[in-house]
Amino acid sequence: MTIHVVGNVCVDMSFHLKRLPRAGETLNAQSAGEGLGGKGANQAVAAARTGAAVTLWAPVGNDPAGLWMGERLAAEITTLRLSRLDLPSDRSVVLVDGRGENLIVTAAACADAFDPTAEGALAAEWRTGDVLLMQGNLPIAATVACLRQARASGLFTVLNPSPLPEDVRDLAMVSLLIANRPEAERLTGEADPQLAARRLHALGAEAVVITLGGDGALLQDGSASLHIPPRQAEVIDTSGAGDCFAGTLTGLLHRGMPLAKAAEVASAAAALCVGRPGTMAAFPTRAELFALVPSLKTDIA
Ligand code: ATP
Repeated sequence: MTIHVVGNVCVDMSFHLKRLPRAGETLNAQSAGEGLGGKGANQAVAAARTGAAVTLWAPVGNDPAGLWMGERLAAEITTLRLSRLDLPSDRSVVLVDGRGENLIVTAAACADAFDPTAEGALAAEWRTGDVLLMQGNLPIAATVACLRQARASGLFTVLNPSPLPEDVRDLAMVSLLIANRPEAERLTGEADPQLAARRLHALGAEAVVITLGGDGALLQDGSASLHIPPRQAEVIDTSGAGDCFAGTLTGLLHRGMPLAKAAEVASAAAALCVGRPGTMAAFPTRAELFALVPSLKTDIA
């Protein structure tokens, strides 16, 4: 069985600054670096590190950056299905301040033009019982169509609606919704995460996880709700914590772990991520995940 991650990949340029700039200001960074990013790539890598079989479906440009991303991804992901578009590869600029807060700007020509269901290759490859994991970077109509088709084919569908699409009112095609607190509030109008989680469940999502940053996460599974405590962390850089959480959680579910336990381990993995610099570079390695959950190693051997 496979997790099909359908989303974006991009080149991330990161700048570490004492503080984030104000409008019109120019600041010198303390350090800078270039790496692989994009929520699709991040979540696919986090899922793959749990030992799950992952196929990544994503658009890249027909340019050197697209080739470079393909090579980097091949080292982490079991199967790559990259569509090469005649567009510039997507890029993000990530600014991180001394408290670990971040600001991100993305140029997303490839993600904006990508329709994963257009050619039928995805539906030809997925099987009943597989998992589909999507984010909010692709056009909303394409995302909804893909989720609906997957659900109708008997897949377990996971949606992390980030960045938030303007309007999602029907979540019947979502088995598990993972949103952070601001996203949950904007989707439902409810500031209280518990009320927001119930509302998202009422909109059709079978299960809901709302991530609460340093406060852990809230799980709504049917009518039961559970607080997932945070793992203590010294915050260095919060970028990618949400992707680490979503990818790890999906990978662990696919490996057969119950939802509440998987959310607890994903929370511990994301705490490791915020304790060091970088996005994907900060995700726990497979060895670190196996140290958190020794049975994962046995199951995969
Ligand atoms: P980002 O956009 O920065 O990637 P996000 O807003 O999508 O993150 P958060 O809710 O901030 O997601 O964080 C996701 C998970 O990471 C949390 O549910 C929690 O488990 C873990 N986490 C985040 N911040 C902290 C922290 N300060 N201490 C411990 N764990 C944290």
